Amino acid sequence: MDRPRFVIEASEAESMAKESGLSVLQLLPSLVKPAQNLARPPISKYHVGAVGLGSDGRIFLGVNLEFPGLPLHHSVHAEQFLVTNLAVHGEPSLRYIAVSATPCGHCRQFLQELRNAADIQILITSSENESEESTKFKPLSSILPNPFGPYDLLDEETPLLLEAHDNGLSILNKAIDSNCGNLCNGAALVAHIAGGGGGYERIVAGVLVEKEGAVVRQEDTARLLLKMVSPKCEFKVFLCHSASNGCKGTFILM
Ligand SMILES: [Zn+2]
Repeated sequence: MDRPRFVIEASEAESMAKESGLSVLQLLPSLVKPAQNLARPPISKYHVGAVGLGSDGRIFLGVNLEFPGLPLHHSVHAEQFLVTNLAVHGEPSLRYIAVSATPCGHCRQFLQELRNAADIQILITSSENESEESTKFKPLSSILPNPFGPYDLLDEETPLLLEAHDNGLSILNKAIDSNCGNLCNGAALVAHIAGGGGGYERIVAGVLVEKEGAVVRQEDTARLLLKMVSPKCEFKVFLCHSASNGCKGTFILM
């Protein structure tokens, strides 16, 4: 059986659209249902699918994940999965997103924290009462007025979520390659699922690299998450030094 796929290459997206007599943009809402089928929500049983178009024409899928036995904040919402999927695959910008249900407040904020959030267009496929509305993309600002965002806290040079970060982390003076970005906790699981990794029990090891003495730390929560989803999984933490003030680490599952 084919592994579920969470990324559609640009050329394939174009042929799929052509075959269906649609534009690539019109294809997005038609992929929301198939995305919903890939969701893993054993607690709420509420399947959410999100489908996004990147700047290079690739299509990315996002689904919600829930973890029995853990606090609800470990859940990953479909929009968050989608953005992480873009990050994992080196896509720097999200242009359009079609999603099965109205995004929660947290996800609206999550999208707002991407570069050029004002340009993101969103379509909610469940807006059945407003049949006209359900076929139209609207700016993110239409569901998040008066936003608070990164520019209220940071200068414009500071890299945002989908942009390359140099954490300045090193172990024994060796720089750590952090091209894969800052993948922590749920995000590492997203990378596992989006890469076709299958069941969580197939995760055999997790490695967390984080800054010694950082004010934001992932170790305890990562340990808890792994213990619940893959109890036999080996977990290692490397503490490292940072030349910069970056406080984030990298979390990789194998
Ligand atoms: Zn949400």
